[in-house]
Amino acid sequence: MSQYEMALGTLKHLLDAVGERHWAEWVQADLEEWRSWQSTRRHRSAYGGMGSINDLVICDANKHRVTTLQEGWANMLLRHLLGLCSHLAQWPEVTCRAETLSRDLGLKPSFLRPLFVDSTETYHDITVARVGHELLGRFCGECGRADATPWELAYFIAQDMIDVGLAEAFVENGGLAYIDRALGLKLDGVDRVRADLVQVIDESGIALPEERIWREPCVACGAEHGIRCRWQLSNVDGLRFVLTGGNLPIVLAGGERRRSGAT
Ligand SMILES: [Zn+2]
Repeated sequence: MSQYEMALGTLKHLLDAVGERHWAEWVQADLEEWRSWQSTRRHRSAYGGMGSINDLVICDANKHRVTTLQEGWANMLLRHLLGLCSHLAQWPEVTCRAETLSRDLGLKPSFLRPLFVDSTETYHDITVARVGHELLGRFCGECGRADATPWELAYFIAQDMIDVGLAEAFVENGGLAYIDRALGLKLDGVDRVRADLVQVIDESGIALPEERIWREPCVACGAEHGIRCRWQLSNVDGLRFVLTGGNLPIVLAGGERRRSGAT
């Protein structure tokens, strides 16, 4: 079986797992076209334009079978598998090594797993620049209360921990078991990473309320609107989440000024 055919099977496995019927049927027809005619034309036509497969978002609101905590994992897997399938559709005769696929898909080794699980790195080695992924949340411009949600935390972890292991699992055997473990929140070390990050979030002064959507008005001061913001891990003052450079300076009611970075 070619890697292209294997990749379509892996993508279909994910779509079936979350109950995405339309695109699962589409990919099944792509598989049949490949097996009959060695053509990738139909699959390549799924990308680009309004309503393309690139617009697919896996979420409860779209009637997919995912929990709040699974959404980030499902959508990260989807993004990478679409990258994989569209890549291989260009060169369906080629067999790639895992390193090549990782590079082409932008998959990097997990940063969080060695930090929290293997303890092969200490956070003294961290600089903001090394941690590319951002935790999304909101900030109250009146009282300074900061919130992220478990949904946003799950996205943060999934972005990091769906890593080169996906390409390795794919090359080895199609990666179906990897997809199942990732969707089941059972990749090696996920529980430990989540528990440690919850503590870092707490120590960073960020609340982690249980609900998915940040409630407005602000639960602390009653102000109407929060400010969307992003944090990255930093070790400037112990291991903390700090506001990133993309945030506007936030002036609190009392005149205290909170700026991005850890200065
Ligand atoms: Zn407030």
